[in-house]
Amino acid sequence: MALNKHMHPRNGYKDNPPDFIELSKQYPEFKPYVKYNPNGKAFVNFRIPSVVRILTKCLLHKDFELDVDLPSDRLSPTVPSRLNYILWIEDLLNATSQEFTKQRHIVDIGTGSACIYPLLGMRNNPDWKFTATEIDSLNFKNAVNNIEKNSLKSSIKVLKVDKSATTSLLLHLFQDANDGFDLCMCNPPFFNDSSEIETKIGPIANSSCHANDVESITDGGDLAFAHKLFEESLELKQKVTWYTILMGKKSSFVTFKKQISKYSEILVTTYEFCQGRTIRWGIGWSFCSDMITESKLPRSSLQNATKNSEVVKPITFSLRKTLELNYVYDSLKRELSILGISFMEIENNKNLVILKLQCEKCNWVHIRRRSRKRKLDGVCNGGSVKNLNLIEESPLTKNHSDCTLPNGVASTLLQCEVTILKDFFDHIKLQFKTEIRIQKEVMNTLVVYLKRILLSDIT
Ligand code: SAH
Repeated sequence: MALNKHMHPRNGYKDNPPDFIELSKQYPEFKPYVKYNPNGKAFVNFRIPSVVRILTKCLLHKDFELDVDLPSDRLSPTVPSRLNYILWIEDLLNATSQEFTKQRHIVDIGTGSACIYPLLGMRNNPDWKFTATEIDSLNFKNAVNNIEKNSLKSSIKVLKVDKSATTSLLLHLFQDANDGFDLCMCNPPFFNDSSEIETKIGPIANSSCHANDVESITDGGDLAFAHKLFEESLELKQKVTWYTILMGKKSSFVTFKKQISKYSEILVTTYEFCQGRTIRWGIGWSFCSDMITESKLPRSSLQNATKNSEVVKPITFSLRKTLELNYVYDSLKRELSILGISFMEIENNKNLVILKLQCEKCNWVHIRRRSRKRKLDGVCNGGSVKNLNLIEESPLTKNHSDCTLPNGVASTLLQCEVTILKDFFDHIKLQFKTEIRIQKEVMNTLVVYLKRILLSDIT
């Protein structure tokens, strides 16, 4: 799918989209929906209303051990897209300091029948808690039921709110002067009326059209909803550290962002959520800039790609499934020290390590030459040619091994950023990024070398 490559980097579905054949083997109720095209590739028709519902149930069970009921006449959330929002708020909270003992407390406005955000959020962050609100009676009942089924009653509370023009989105949650939340999230109804739905997504039902009116329509659409949340945030200010909302229409996103960016005391951040052929826009704002490390705020890969077309494409590779992130980090540190590469730690948490590397010499080329010589000597002395796994050096690598720098390059041979991350499926990925285009090939040779060492370390 065109935009999957821009999914959140820790979203496990980015490189492992749902395997329909596997799912149909594990979940017989999914089997009737799986069809095959003439070259044997499995597909499902998302225009059949029950497909998204059954797929969501199966994926939540298989990948998150969550058992949910979804009513057939309400919106069925797609799991990969909801995971993108959860991963974004994880990033925002990681960039935000916290009192040591305080538990992160998140509000989900309009949680829907699945109660998807709190359930997914708790799976990856068992130390969080959620307060969710819902206006629709059936969605409320179903959300409560899903929380009970998954034994999460002590961490997730759902409140039924009145359906009236005067009902607040957040203000009603503040009964006590000490009440406060770390973040509020919200995937509001996007449309102003049913004619707008027809104009935007057409009369033919697609997966998003399973929504009931209360789920997809609100007076003034997503922009009015965002305005209401913003007005309440001007009253509440620092009582909520982050206010976030997902917008379904680019025009609403652009207008809203422009409007709130005028307030100098507010820190604004945005993110693009990509899945399949759909983009949604996340916008977050905060009155607590002193608690936030701005350099740690996430940027989507689509934002990076469009902001600066000169950005050099990062190099990424994946290691085996069962590894601990710290184990890989230790191996990498060991190797960097052997190579004499200095590094600075920018971020280190359970899912993510970011380092800035600085290399003055590409020692890995010398080491590789020595090891190749050893192997060749081994062959001459009766070793097996089959075991040789040589990497050819390009002329450019040879130049750099002698540290002959191209004109115009400062004394540093390579400056790059390395990200080690663990996605939702526990896959460890390494990404190498440089902003200096002419350093890309040197970085490439380092990546080839490190990949080989790390892979041989874990086998
Ligand atoms: N969060 C879910 C549902 C999104 S649909 C998901 O992402 O899948 C929007 C939801 O907001 C619907 O369930 C709708 O009933 C609810 N809703 C609409 N207005 C609301 C309000 N003012 N307060 C709380 N919930 C509201």
